[in-house]
Amino acid sequence: MNAEAAASLAGVKDADRKHVFHSWSAQELIDPLAVAGAAGSYFWDYEGKRYLDFSSALVYTNIGYQHPKVAAAIAEQAGKLCTVAPGFAVDVRSEAARLIAERTPGDLDKIFFTNAGAEAVENAVRMARLHTGRPKVLSAYRSYHGATSTAINLTGDARRFGNDTATAGVVRFWGPYLYRSPFHATTEAEECARALTHLEDTIVFEGPQSIAAIILETVGGAPGVLVPPAGYLAGVRELCDRFGIVFVLDEVMVGFGRTGTWFAADNWEVTPDLICFAKGVTSGYVPLGGVAISAAIAETFARRPYPGGLTYSGHVLACAAAVATINVMEEEGVVAQSARTGAELLGPGLRALAERHPSVGEVRGLGTFWALELVRNRETREPLVPYNAAGADNAPMAEFAAACKKGGLWPLVAGNRLHVAPACTITPQDVAKGLEILDGALTVADAHV
Ligand code: PMP
Repeated sequence: MNAEAAASLAGVKDADRKHVFHSWSAQELIDPLAVAGAAGSYFWDYEGKRYLDFSSALVYTNIGYQHPKVAAAIAEQAGKLCTVAPGFAVDVRSEAARLIAERTPGDLDKIFFTNAGAEAVENAVRMARLHTGRPKVLSAYRSYHGATSTAINLTGDARRFGNDTATAGVVRFWGPYLYRSPFHATTEAEECARALTHLEDTIVFEGPQSIAAIILETVGGAPGVLVPPAGYLAGVRELCDRFGIVFVLDEVMVGFGRTGTWFAADNWEVTPDLICFAKGVTSGYVPLGGVAISAAIAETFARRPYPGGLTYSGHVLACAAAVATINVMEEEGVVAQSARTGAELLGPGLRALAERHPSVGEVRGLGTFWALELVRNRETREPLVPYNAAGADNAPMAEFAAACKKGGLWPLVAGNRLHVAPACTITPQDVAKGLEILDGALTVADAHV
């Protein structure tokens, strides 16, 4: 590193330590890597060390970092019109809404724009409550829906523990998860049937007349790439129809190509009443989220004002980024590429790793969205680290993550899982390179078996 780079690194780190308050962290116990730049599937530090990013930032750079067409579209828009209040009609916002609505399933043809995923969830729940006049919302224990007030209460995972635990009408249920079945099922069909019976019982015992919505991640993201069994989402759709409940799919992490389709629901040909999206819609270049709304729910607010809004709803720069991102995805066939990469390279490659490494308990996923569940014992499925492990308890996963980084791969680890979510545009060469680095790093996890 030359003197200039060293000085600028020291300045960045020093100001970060003094003035940046980081998410989800004990401020004095962290030492964030200083990133100097990024392109495609890679970012690099001030010493020029390059990392192949298998986390796509926080699973959002679906078209990779610094796509020139999207960067240029943002710059061009900034030169023309940076912002205008959300109440006006403006070309890029109309166009972004049209492009998104045309890609959502069924009659989800109206788009309410937010700045992020949690705000999308907040507004979907508000719409469902107003539409039905009912208070309760059902969500899965194994879920993450965001960190704002309602979204963190809907979240099932341990991140809600440090927050207000007043549930404000939230009722949690167990979704299907065959590898650690809450229903002691041994086949996918059994897991699906029992999960649907459990959900139906929950609805009946909570009182259908009090339930506004069921919210699900189409494929559970943060909880470990939980792919629903065939028939589950259709079954939830049927329960929602039977009991007059709004079906909300949270596609914040899985929308826009991640699972090899525009929306993950397309994999099971299910149409919910509301879809929450964010992340991939702009590849994260400018924050944008939203709710895609069915005709029936939109009709509720046709002559009655919708009591919600955001200063930056449909921000012009974000909408320009969304238009450019969606156009790039179409022009470059990114959605099909994501499906192909999963079916031909990531799936087979990760399964081959599982055969060689006893610490891999299960491989699951689709498209460019996978997880390896690491275990101490394949027979008992004892996880490599306990649920919600911290500090010394989490050491085996921390060692594994460190080995990945040393090898030049930036991993996304959570609990006992390695999530594999590279850019949907990752090249076959980079998939091969990533798998090779993982092959080496997994020997570190194997030592704990
Ligand atoms: N829902 C899901 C499924 C998510 O994965 C996330 C973020 N990881 C959110 C909601 C919250 O999104 P945001 O952080 O943009 O508010």
